[in-house]
Amino acid sequence: MTKRSPPPAKKLNAAELMDWIEDIEQRAMKAVADVQDADGLASQTAVFLGRGGELNRALERLVDLAKPERAEAGRRANQVKAKLESEYGRRREEMRAGMMQAQLQQEALDVTLPGRPLVRGRIHPANQTLRQIIRIWAEMGFQVYRSREVETDELNFGLLNMPPHHPARDMWDTFYTTNPQVLLRTHTSPGQIHAMRQRAPQPIRVVLPGMCYRYEQVTARSEIQFNQVEGLAVGRRITFADLKGTLTAFARRLFGAQVATRFRAAHFPFTEPSAEMDVECFVCGGVGCPVCKGTGWLEVLGSGMVHPTVLNNGGYDPALFSGYAFGMGPERLTMLKHRIEDIRYFWKNDLRFLEQF
Ligand SMILES: [Zn+2]
Repeated sequence: MTKRSPPPAKKLNAAELMDWIEDIEQRAMKAVADVQDADGLASQTAVFLGRGGELNRALERLVDLAKPERAEAGRRANQVKAKLESEYGRRREEMRAGMMQAQLQQEALDVTLPGRPLVRGRIHPANQTLRQIIRIWAEMGFQVYRSREVETDELNFGLLNMPPHHPARDMWDTFYTTNPQVLLRTHTSPGQIHAMRQRAPQPIRVVLPGMCYRYEQVTARSEIQFNQVEGLAVGRRITFADLKGTLTAFARRLFGAQVATRFRAAHFPFTEPSAEMDVECFVCGGVGCPVCKGTGWLEVLGSGMVHPTVLNNGGYDPALFSGYAFGMGPERLTMLKHRIEDIRYFWKNDLRFLEQF
């Protein structure tokens, strides 16, 4: 770093002042060439060009000279000052540009690189079918009614016309809690009682989707947890013809306008009469194939007129009110639709399976 030269104590003559000015120019030009960074440049600027800097102190000594010499020395000093200001300014600009360049390089973005793929989530295949089913029923005027997965024995069985020791209770092995009166629901039907008790005596049109649990051996065809969508319509003068017409309309919306349906007599404790609905096999068109086991028909849901005892338990007088109910399994429908052969894939969380949908 260039040191300030001490102020001359004695009066200067013209030659001495001119030498000093030339000396300042040389040292200041060397300093600006040697300077490494913005801080160094700032301090050198102060040394030579600052208010108390060397060049100003030289200018103050012009008073020592006689008038003609003073003018010449003054002109020379101002030339040097202009030259140094220009050079120091240029260096300042150069450094600023250099810093910007370095910063740009550091933050360089290669726009020719291929982008990183975004990981996209998707809706589980069972939920896709569930939403499709709910959408169709919603269009037909059915509200979604959610009810709890942990139920009492009374709601899951008793009020649905399955008193203790009723043979229908053998149909399901159940997950009981430590309290033998509290269990994981084996079907969505207890929601029927909840909905009826909340709405009676108003008419009802609801669908009840949700997870159900059965203590079963896990095989390619049965799981311990699965979704159900139950439906319930209660009102005055509802007949079996309404059941058939509504369920057929639903099947046409889900499987296509041309699909044929048939009803087969069945038995459920909470409906009377009861029927299972089949649709014409959409794989073979009814000719017979392994999916429909050669029958040409696929079973898609169970249904029936709500049993008078169940209507009563829900708060409706069976002499005045009637209704129908139905239930289906979104996983089973998904399996039929995509020809999935093993129900265990649904809850295994294997992305190789889930990412296909
Ligand atoms: Zn078939």
